[in-house]
Amino acid sequence: MTTTKTYDYIVIGAGSAGLSFSALMERKGFSVALIEAHSLPGGCSSYFERDGYIFDAGATTLSGLKSNRPIANLIKDLDLKLELTAIDPGIVSILKNKIIHRYKNPMKWNEELIRVFPKIQHEKFWTKVSELEHSGWSLTQDFKNIPLRSFSTLPSFFNSKFFSAIKSLPNLFKSVGAELNDLAINDPDYLAMIKEMLFITAQNNELNDTPLLMGAMGLAYPEDTFYATGGMKAFANALASKCSNIFYRNEVRQILPINNGRDGFQVLTNKQMLQGKKLISTIPIWNHEILFDDKKVKSFFQKYPAPQPDECWSAFMIYLTVPVDYNRDSLYYQIHTDAIPHCGTHSFFVSLSHPKDEVRSINGRQVVTISTHTRSKEWLKLDRVDYENKKDETSEFILNYLKKAFNITDSDLQNVMTGTPKTFIKYTHRNSGLVGGIPHSLKRSPLDFLIAKSPLENFYMLGDTQFPGQGIAAVILGAQNLENYLTN
Ligand SMILES: Cc1cc2nc3c(=O)[nH]c(=O)nc-3n(C[C@H](O)[C@H](O)[C@H](O)COP(=O)(O)OP(=O)(O)OC[C@H]3O[C@@H](n4cnc5c(N)ncnc54)[C@H](O)[C@@H]3O)c2cc1C
Repeated sequence: MTTTKTYDYIVIGAGSAGLSFSALMERKGFSVALIEAHSLPGGCSSYFERDGYIFDAGATTLSGLKSNRPIANLIKDLDLKLELTAIDPGIVSILKNKIIHRYKNPMKWNEELIRVFPKIQHEKFWTKVSELEHSGWSLTQDFKNIPLRSFSTLPSFFNSKFFSAIKSLPNLFKSVGAELNDLAINDPDYLAMIKEMLFITAQNNELNDTPLLMGAMGLAYPEDTFYATGGMKAFANALASKCSNIFYRNEVRQILPINNGRDGFQVLTNKQMLQGKKLISTIPIWNHEILFDDKKVKSFFQKYPAPQPDECWSAFMIYLTVPVDYNRDSLYYQIHTDAIPHCGTHSFFVSLSHPKDEVRSINGRQVVTISTHTRSKEWLKLDRVDYENKKDETSEFILNYLKKAFNITDSDLQNVMTGTPKTFIKYTHRNSGLVGGIPHSLKRSPLDFLIAKSPLENFYMLGDTQFPGQGIAAVILGAQNLENYLTN
């Protein structure tokens, strides 16, 4: 259980945050040990293989590839070999009695909105979305010292971009709902479209509780959607190929700071002890308390307990294959429904493998990942029979909508599997299977986003329960900002 090597960095978790940070630091010449409990890279954006098909386990879309956005920068900096296809429309929303295509081009999107909702004055709302999205990214990208890790970096905020960035801050305190109300937009179908889009991006389906700034970033997300040939497997493995020392099937059980972290850390896994000068953890903040013995550190983490069941979401998943159809408008659909059993949600998200992806769309079939939000409490502590019955009921309900939307029959659906919060506990070690990050909410203080938390020297946290938010692009940006902080 001992090791003599001391790494410059030990990184816990080979999800998008841990992989990106490790690869960036190795590129700078540091030695990095990346510890992962699962046998594959990717975390919530991982994959699995069944019957020869490669399924995306959680995340399916890459957004943040416009010039100078986080994923674009990461691909360039690490010279990642990926075949990426822009998907336009980035999402097709199938509402109860309307279908709307979210085109990338603002003029085309405006024409589509006018076609589907001719009576609504959209332009002001979407112009504001576009402006705020731009300032949201600028805020997090131009100010590379966000979140604030030390007061010595404070002067770096007062650069030429400060005053234009600060103008957008009031939109942290105004809701998307309030903005729509001010613009007298109250068509129920229109509000439902926006609400469900926000659900998959800002993790909040309450228009009156979603801050406008984050809401705008979420609503602009489908403008910039890309498909990676080979799916999330290709993305995770491209990053993993840049990390020399990944220790899979190593679950971190204990962290021993040496002299409060000043002299580094010993990290004990189920298989070995690793030693590092600095420690980066990408697991959820509320999973840390049990890893430390020190009372002061424990009491720090007690301030960040796991969210109450109603504060954070988990996901219900269906994985399947369908016959290849080259005539579909997009690879990504949001299908609106009545309340989904045991989820309470009113839509589900469908992602298909690209029909021309020779790695995933094989045997004349496309691989499909379906996800909807659910509460963990619905799925935990059930006996086997109840659990299976609930899964079947939810799955049947969703698949009935899918068949109708895609005009396919039962016999077209093959290789069907389901996943619940229990599946996420098993594969991502997330407490109660809480995935997708903390919802953006007016109830959450903006300071939670702006000031980095750490109880020890040389110990930093990343990932989607930390600033800057959730989603692959956001956790990558967190890794890039931390790399910048530690190396400049
Ligand atoms: C269903 C679903 C769909 C999504 N869709 C999208 C999408 O289309 N696009 C998008 O951008 N985002 C999407 N997201 C969000 C995105 O996947 C996550 O925000 C992001 O992947 C989180 O990355 P992370 O590195 O912070 O955490 P994780 O991916 O959770 O990585 C943490 C890693 O730490 C490991 N770990 C945990 N505990 C330990 C331990 N004790 N020891 C060692 N290792 C440990 C886990 O196994 C995991 O691999 C989706 C999420 C879900 C759940």
